[in-house]
Amino acid sequence: MTLAELLPSLGCEASDRLERAGWPPGTRLGADGELIFAGAAVSGLAARFGTPAYFLDEADVRRRAAAYRRALPEAEVAFAGKAMCVRSVLRWVAEEGLSLDTCSAGEIAVARSVGFPAERILLHGNVKTPEDLKAALGYGVGRIVLDSLDEIEQLGALAREGQRVLLRVTPDIDAGTHAKISTGAEGQKFGFSLRPDAADNVDRAVAAVLAQPSLVLTGLHCHLGSQVSRVDKYELAARRMVQVLAGIREKHGVTLTQLDLGGGHAVAYRPGDPEFDLAGYARRLRVALGYECSSRAFPMPRLTIEPGRAIVGQAGITVYRVGAVKRGSRTFVAVDGGMSDNPRPALYGAKYTARLVGRYSRAPHQEMVVVGRHCESGDVLADGIRLPGDIKAGDLLAVPCTGAYHHSLASNYNVVGRPPVVGVRDGVARLLVRRETEDDLLARDLG
Ligand SMILES: *Cc1c(COP(=O)(O)O)cnc(C)c1O
Repeated sequence: MTLAELLPSLGCEASDRLERAGWPPGTRLGADGELIFAGAAVSGLAARFGTPAYFLDEADVRRRAAAYRRALPEAEVAFAGKAMCVRSVLRWVAEEGLSLDTCSAGEIAVARSVGFPAERILLHGNVKTPEDLKAALGYGVGRIVLDSLDEIEQLGALAREGQRVLLRVTPDIDAGTHAKISTGAEGQKFGFSLRPDAADNVDRAVAAVLAQPSLVLTGLHCHLGSQVSRVDKYELAARRMVQVLAGIREKHGVTLTQLDLGGGHAVAYRPGDPEFDLAGYARRLRVALGYECSSRAFPMPRLTIEPGRAIVGQAGITVYRVGAVKRGSRTFVAVDGGMSDNPRPALYGAKYTARLVGRYSRAPHQEMVVVGRHCESGDVLADGIRLPGDIKAGDLLAVPCTGAYHHSLASNYNVVGRPPVVGVRDGVARLLVRRETEDDLLARDLG
């Protein structure tokens, strides 16, 4: 505990204490406004690795993976690799006993390069290229989740005997999240419809898979979307999916043994954001599945769940250096990164906080906008946040909760190299992905 936390009456603003949401639990304030992340001083990390840079708390990633395994020991927990597809991270989650979701030949190549056990890998995607399917078959990926009648035919022709597959179902559940990350409702591109009047519905898909001699249908999959905080939506999905399994047994005479309920568990980016209740989720899912299975005399399927953001989101931070401060009708704090390392605000209005680190300021806090360096006015990192009024060029800003969908969504917009990913554990930092250089950027452009 810091002096400011012990003695708030010393004249420090409440915001001079570390707000709990967003940061990994071990993060704390040191002397003189220093931020201690995974045991290391952030200003030292910034001096060593440069800015902008992503930092990831290894122990926190492992702790969250282990917490999922403990909460649902009977289930398979598959890390959604698209959230942070970095070799070291895949090693950590493999060591913690997790399985892995992939969506492309590239993600399979990363998994393969660290020897991620093939039987614990799933391949997803609403349209998989022949290269994706061949990469999965070449490595012997355990399950491929099929998403269209075309794909059933394509994989059927490519696969060897005994390839296990799941069917992705649209459970027609509105998970109450942003439209661009809502994937379980009717009218979006993923999954086979449950509606009998839909031409490509689940029944046709089951019949199509059963007609392929090389494929073995083992179960169903659904994914409601991302940043879902309501456990009752998962309860509803579990019950609906058991109903579908029972319907398939009745119509097609097959008893499927696997049920994959996807991921999407919400994390708090800012104080006040809803947190996902993992214990409540585990308990209520168990009850819902038990009830629905026993009332339909259906054997309890093996459950798979697929958290991505919930494993790595809060374990990561991004550190930027302020390049310019512009004071007018609003105060703009411009940093050396932006929508190329975090497109989430521009993509779906994601909201972030930021904190001055490496310097203690007594200046009263004022409302400001943290913006990036790119040539769009929508290049905003954190809008309407409160920062010390004396913030100036050269200061460091840390943004919490950037472990998921930052590195993996980063671009080279304005031919800016992507930031490094640095793993930190017990105060020791290690470069996991190096910074992209101008040589890297020029190498693909053949002139
Ligand atoms: C993206 C995705 C996930 C993970 O979503 P999070 O919000 O990161 O938990 C899980 N399963 C599938 C099929 C996905 O597409």
